[in-house]
Amino acid sequence: MHELGITQSVVDAVLDAVDEPRISLLRMEIGRLSGVVPDSVRFCFDLVVEGTALEGALLEIVEPAGQARCRSCGAPFEVEHPIVLCRCGSADVEVLSGRELRIKAVEVR
Ligand SMILES: [Zn+2]
Repeated sequence: MHELGITQSVVDAVLDAVDEPRISLLRMEIGRLSGVVPDSVRFCFDLVVEGTALEGALLEIVEPAGQARCRSCGAPFEVEHPIVLCRCGSADVEVLSGRELRIKAVEVR
């Protein structure tokens, strides 16, 4: 379960950057093609933040859909899975978005 490592890195980055005793909200963007499972991140988050400024913080996860364009036929299309294949059968596909894994916002009070 690599989500634990990812969640730990995100939480460490937030705690490093934000010098506040209480953080009330963390908003993350996890693209549908990132291969990261938001529910697992939610589960790990509760474990990882125990005893830190993020304990009790609300975790909001935005999941942008994947956008890709086929290099063979030129068609743009939406992708839901990390394995990307165009309807024309080509796997020569340029992924434009959906692999995001980043912190969008942090709120303190
Ligand atoms: Zn195609």
